[in-house]
Amino acid sequence: MKRGSQGRILLLLLIALAIGAFFVFDLGAYLTLANLKARQAELGAYVAANPLAAVVAFFLLYVAVTALSLPGAAILTLAAGAIFGLWEGTLIVSFASTIGASLAFLSSRYLLRDWVKARFGGRVEAIDRGIAKDGAFYLLSLRLIPAFPFFLINLAMGLTAMRLVTFAWVSQVGMLPGTIVYVNAGTQLAAVESLSDILSPALLGSFVLLGLFPLLAKAAVGWWKRRRAYRGWRRPRRFDRNLIVIGAGAGGLVTALIGATVKARVTLIEKGEMGGDCLNTGCVPSKALIRSARAAHEIRTAAAYGIAPAEPDVRFGELIERIHRIIAEIAPADSVERYTSLGVDVRKGHARLVDPWTVEIDGGERLTARAIVIAAGGEPALPPIPGLAESGYLTSDSMWERLRGRETVPARVAIIGGGPIGTEMAQAFARLGSKVTQIEHGPRLLPKEDEDASALVEAVLREEGVDIRTGHEAVRVEGKTLIVSSDTEAAIPFDEIIVAVGRKSRLTGYGLEDLGIETGRTIVVNEWLETRYPNIYAIGDVAGPYQFTHFAAHQAWFAAVNGLFGQLKRFRADYRVLPWVTFTDPEVAHVGHNALSAKEAGIAFEVVRYDLSHLDRALAEGANRGFVKLLVAPGKDRLLGATIVADRAGELLAELVLAMKHGLGLNKLLGTIHAYPTLTEANKYAAGEWKKAHKPERLLAWVERYHAWRRG
Ligand SMILES: Cc1cc2nc3c(=O)[nH]c(=O)nc-3n(C[C@H](O)[C@H](O)[C@H](O)COP(=O)(O)OP(=O)(O)OC[C@H]3O[C@@H](n4cnc5c(N)ncnc54)[C@H](O)[C@@H]3O)c2cc1C
Repeated sequence: MKRGSQGRILLLLLIALAIGAFFVFDLGAYLTLANLKARQAELGAYVAANPLAAVVAFFLLYVAVTALSLPGAAILTLAAGAIFGLWEGTLIVSFASTIGASLAFLSSRYLLRDWVKARFGGRVEAIDRGIAKDGAFYLLSLRLIPAFPFFLINLAMGLTAMRLVTFAWVSQVGMLPGTIVYVNAGTQLAAVESLSDILSPALLGSFVLLGLFPLLAKAAVGWWKRRRAYRGWRRPRRFDRNLIVIGAGAGGLVTALIGATVKARVTLIEKGEMGGDCLNTGCVPSKALIRSARAAHEIRTAAAYGIAPAEPDVRFGELIERIHRIIAEIAPADSVERYTSLGVDVRKGHARLVDPWTVEIDGGERLTARAIVIAAGGEPALPPIPGLAESGYLTSDSMWERLRGRETVPARVAIIGGGPIGTEMAQAFARLGSKVTQIEHGPRLLPKEDEDASALVEAVLREEGVDIRTGHEAVRVEGKTLIVSSDTEAAIPFDEIIVAVGRKSRLTGYGLEDLGIETGRTIVVNEWLETRYPNIYAIGDVAGPYQFTHFAAHQAWFAAVNGLFGQLKRFRADYRVLPWVTFTDPEVAHVGHNALSAKEAGIAFEVVRYDLSHLDRALAEGANRGFVKLLVAPGKDRLLGATIVADRAGELLAELVLAMKHGLGLNKLLGTIHAYPTLTEANKYAAGEWKKAHKPERLLAWVERYHAWRRG
């Protein structure tokens, strides 16, 4: 048995023994008002004869009763007044009750917190976040209202992440008024007929008001802070618009659309191409490139399907034109015309925040709105590598235009970065025939994925000829040669070098600095996506914490609704069931927790894995490398997350996203008919693996006996 569990069992036994003794020996009979009254004179005489011993004994008794959550603390508090007087009694009870409460808090934490975290991981995280922010206020309110059982507060708070010091001092302060009332009543013990005499309805009412005070004070502080944010700014008396949206990428477009749909007057301002990064330089062109690369790969590996293979004749110029054609085909959906027809006032130009309600376009026209949503996106981060600036490097922003007109695939491509964009590009260019070298300073590609997922992708890329240099730092560029180092330096000659080391939020040049809007790596927003000005929101790549099109669109709903209806009700953005996909072949699709993030968050999980090697459809497709890996709450039919590495993993994931979002367990998945032969059967088989691992062995043994008996 582990030492931790031994300690827990020992503590539990001690507590059980002490509580057992209390009831077996009927010690509670001593802690009654009648007994206290009957023995008041006797106790008083003892205290007079042994003042120090009496204080110590009383103190320890009080600590024990409160630490063990035994009934009788109220009687003891009265006793403190009766035998020590108001001031000494208050002093003793105040410290003894705080120490006792803290011991109960610590025991509850030691005995139960891990278990509660393992069972209710996600909810505990949310509660802990709330406690970190406002826990002291809540505790103070609970302590001030004596109607809340003292011992329950101790035990419940122990299950949260509240710091002991906070718990102790807030408890001491919060319990003080009640303590004084009870100790004072104890000084006139003869007049007290029952405990309910002490708290008359009027006094109880006053305590409730006192208890509500911290919460009211908190609300007032919040209101004052919100007002203070606007100090120095003059709010317009009326507004031209309900909502102004800066940036017409995924986030901005969806925000504007929601606003217009609910009949608000919305202006959307875009300085570049409508559709933002995803359409023009991100998802769409990269996925179109990947599709061409797949075609080339299939020609090269056609022998696996009984067809004569060939080295594909890649017409790079046509390939790049296809990419631009696809962008052009999608563009009307994001166009000025479409959004205008949907009721959005679209303006082309550079938006700049002038004050918390006013936005200026191209230094000219000024528009005002009650709410502003910043969806200004991001751009590729550039590492400070000497010589890079002169190298003619490409990024995802520049490459689609810069490669236009090039008729042949670049022979040698160096890619700096082992994240999703770098890895997608590395495989695509290798499949198109480039000799690709990919540099990653960390120990592996796709570091946010579990190791087994990134190892499989890495293995496939290496087999396809990508020279992957993990643990390597890009040191400098000399002409058309990249110098990298791990233990020693190495030279990598290239024709094109692609920088894909991540994306940074766009934070300058449009007024954030002038308004003092807080920024770190992104614009700082709270759970309602508000910046320091509660009417200015930020979403998408500019706000993070994730950088995906669907994430920006998801946040857009919260920003639009909070911006337009926040006076009535605000909604906290919720990212618990967020899927994402890296479009390598095989794809890596991910939702919720993987083992890496669950471990980091301290969430207990069990892993179920189904390998695609024997999946009929995957075999027929020649795509049977990969797996479905599910994270499940131990002992429960609750999905914590999933990672799929497979051909079309992004499509396979949708079913699991739905299951997670709507709390459907693996039994439900298993009970759902999946068409044969499809790749989605892999999800069902993974659920089957879970079921097999939890089959009721004992029951089955009885069933076996039953069958034997039936056979006669
Ligand atoms: C190569 C690549 C591949 C990607 N693949 C995927 C993928 O497969 N799946 C996925 O989900 N995500 C993918 N992404 C990420 C995705 O593109 C972004 O997360 C998404 O575009 C973010 O949307 P956004 O609205 O926050 O910002 P953006 O799309 O960047 O839009 C911001 C807009 O604001 C405008 N703007 C900025 N400042 C101003 C101003 N002052 N005035 C007026 N307009 C302004 C910009 O011109 C821009 O059009 C990829 C990204 C890249 C680079």
